[in-house]
Amino acid sequence: TENKPLDFIRQIIADDLATGKHRKSITRFPPEPNGYLHIGHAKSICLNFGVAEEFGGTCNLRFDDTNPSKEDISYVESIKEDVRWLGFNWGEKELYASDYFQTLYEFAVSLIKRGKAYVCELSPDEIREYRGTLTAPGKNSPYRDRSVADNLKLFTAMKNGEFTEGSHVLRAKIDMNSPNLNMRDPVIYRILYADHHRTKDAWKIYPMYDYTHCLSDMLEKITHSLCTLEFQDHRPLYDWVLDTLETPCHPRQIEFARLNLSYTVMSKRKLLRMVDNDHVDGWDDPRMLTISGLRRRGYTPGSIRNFCRTIGIGKSDSRIDMAVLENEIRSDLNVNAERRMCVQDPVKLVIDNYPENQVEMVEGKNHPQDPDKGIRPLPFTREIFIERDDFMDDPPKKYFRLGPGREVRLKYGYLVQYLSHKVNPETGEVEEIRCTYDPESKGGFAPDNRKVKGTIHWVSAEKNVPVTINMYDRLFNVEDPEADKDVDFLEHLNPESKVVLKNCIAEPDVVNLSVGQNVQFERLGYFCIDSVESTTDKPVFNRTVTLKDSWTP
Ligand code: ATP
Ligand code: MG
Ligand code: MG
Repeated sequence: TENKPLDFIRQIIADDLATGKHRKSITRFPPEPNGYLHIGHAKSICLNFGVAEEFGGTCNLRFDDTNPSKEDISYVESIKEDVRWLGFNWGEKELYASDYFQTLYEFAVSLIKRGKAYVCELSPDEIREYRGTLTAPGKNSPYRDRSVADNLKLFTAMKNGEFTEGSHVLRAKIDMNSPNLNMRDPVIYRILYADHHRTKDAWKIYPMYDYTHCLSDMLEKITHSLCTLEFQDHRPLYDWVLDTLETPCHPRQIEFARLNLSYTVMSKRKLLRMVDNDHVDGWDDPRMLTISGLRRRGYTPGSIRNFCRTIGIGKSDSRIDMAVLENEIRSDLNVNAERRMCVQDPVKLVIDNYPENQVEMVEGKNHPQDPDKGIRPLPFTREIFIERDDFMDDPPKKYFRLGPGREVRLKYGYLVQYLSHKVNPETGEVEEIRCTYDPESKGGFAPDNRKVKGTIHWVSAEKNVPVTINMYDRLFNVEDPEADKDVDFLEHLNPESKVVLKNCIAEPDVVNLSVGQNVQFERLGYFCIDSVESTTDKPVFNRTVTLKDSWTP
């Protein structure tokens, strides 16, 4: 990765530093606190904070909090936690667009004085109608040519709460015939009687996004304002505001492709709908592609940063396969997660010739390739549990696990030879398997080097910890849940995305795992203790990802 060529944004920044246009890069990550951050935001975070790290610049965390009716302090807190968890630091304190409300107001007054903004009394519907379309020119508002004095008086009255919501707006006076609809006298202030989570009821008018964003960037002396492609058409307005106000600094807006991932939806509005309608257990549901959901699922910050590096920064929208993200966490955990044993669908195996009441400790390796991760003792007893599907009473030739006439290796334990098995006459299910063991094979080694192909995992039936496993899978069962505009995306929810296995049996050591700590349950996948549902009496594990990429819809 060190020698990877710079993406087009990093190249622009490198050039600007090389030519001396800027001495230092200043970027910003500007979330609106109206929801939790998702994996798409991670792309923007890794870009903006990544640039700061790589070029010795700074990156501000700025809350774009200009829409009080949808925003909340709890979202502010979650966003801060998520950015920190991803491994990034912002300046001394986080910034808020609402801290600039007074300054933004003064800039608006300045626009009015320059004859570049006016108070308009058209209704929202009329404004839309007058705006025209891509093929039809717009029409000037009848209020467009008010005097500066009238505009100042009316704007002050708006600010003082003398009008009702929707009755008046402040509009930039640009060009109702512009081919760019964003330039047809966009609204820059509206009346809103809503309590703001920070400024409370101090303001009755709120600045619009496009107006706020460029000025906030300017006030913070942002050098490169990185945003997603849908803002390309807004760039002329971004530049118009700064040019018209003749601001001392003029950040450069550069657009990049947003992240779209297969088998999920990304917009906060849609995520909120899933939360509000209980399709998921909250914003941090381990199936959600929110940062907090991924954290609870067992994703590591490093795997998410690696994912963002892998997908890179480009100029055209595309959809990334979910498997790319899953591969990042899989390769992280393959190296870093310790191994444990757990049986998710237990059936009892009794070793006939093993002493009753004996508990023998055998050694389990915490990692097959990394001896530094050490070993742990595993209790071995006469009765153990094995996986139900590791036994077949009439196995095909290629089945290397247990069955009549077969010998199999209990990992780190002994070689066992099939003796008999009992079937429940009513259900037809195997109830118990009997074997003999080779006392000379401790650790799983055949003393005479005889071939024993199959190795299975097991847990002592006497010394163990019952656990619950949440088998998480993809939340949607189609690649693009939003593809068909006539079908609600919720129709594509995968009904099997959460399967709870309540009768799993794990080795005793799992009580020592901390919340969120990743483990591989041998042969089953990667798991971590759930931070919400788990109790000391009954640990609950989340499946982070399977061992192999084997997803089939
Ligand atoms: P959503 O549509 O999910 O509500 P948003 O863009 O409205 O997202 P913001 O809080 O405004 O959410 O986003 C903060 C920053 O994150 C913005 O600069 C935005 O461009 C960026 N961002 C949001 N979604 C993505 C995405 N899918 N890929 C890359 N960047 C994104
Ligand atoms: Mg936004
Ligand atoms: Mg949004």
